[in-house]
Amino acid sequence: MTGRTHDAAALTALIIAAIWYPPASLTLATALVALLANQIGGITPDIDQPTAPFWRNLPAEKFLGQATDKLLGGHRFLTHSIIGVAAFCWLAHWLLVFLQPIMHSVDITLVWYAFVIGIASHLVMDTITKEGVPWLLPIPIKFGLPPLKALRITTGHFVETLIIFPALLVLDVWLITQHYHAIHQFIRLHLGA
Ligand SMILES: [Zn+2]
Repeated sequence: MTGRTHDAAALTALIIAAIWYPPASLTLATALVALLANQIGGITPDIDQPTAPFWRNLPAEKFLGQATDKLLGGHRFLTHSIIGVAAFCWLAHWLLVFLQPIMHSVDITLVWYAFVIGIASHLVMDTITKEGVPWLLPIPIKFGLPPLKALRITTGHFVETLIIFPALLVLDVWLITQHYHAIHQFIRLHLGA
């Protein structure tokens, strides 16, 4: 999947989680940082790609990308497994605890959940592509849905750009309109709008 589709998928997963499990309280700062963490989580596993959006804006982009590629075992390896995701979640938690003193009004637990939702959505989305995902590393089997490879999506192909990506946006709009009243009430109550 492309970075754009992963961003949309991470946002969709976050909206679904927020509708089904609305937080007991929420500050505007938490909402914004959580959204950012969710989007970062959504593309994090692809730092193993030399062309990943993560590296694209750095001056030593090519070198850094390739070095990480070697270190992580190539594309769709460690970063696309439960072990890799657990390691990223642990790192994210550690980073949030470290940053907490300068983010007083931010609920780092909610921000961490948003990151976890983003990174989990990445693996789920990559599972429906032809390459599959080695969920259970070190067991070197790539899993895909549906199991028949021919029925899965090719990354960057028209099915992704013209169907999956727009469908995710339509789903977001539909979810928000369906739950508009509850969302409005929640914003009024917690964010004072
Ligand atoms: Zn990926």
